[in-house]
Amino acid sequence: MRGLAKLNPMARHRAQCAHVRAQMSDYLDADLDERCARAIERHLRWCPSCRHLLQSLRRTIEGLNALGTIGRRGDARTTGP
Ligand SMILES: [Zn+2]
Repeated sequence: MRGLAKLNPMARHRAQCAHVRAQMSDYLDADLDERCARAIERHLRWCPSCRHLLQSLRRTIEGLNALGTIGRRGDARTTGP
């Protein structure tokens, strides 16, 4: 995050939100290293809007996983010419 110190607090907050949101799916997949995950958790503690976004993203991923299970079952049924 280059040049953040020059920004005012609101712009800085928004830049952090963008950073957290960009990494959110990796965070949910546990693909981030410890330090990045900690930084996101710290941000989420005082940013309700990112926390809300994380919850809805988590729900979306759970929904997709459920659909994937149904899809796989469907594929097995329709295999053939
Ligand atoms: Zn945020």
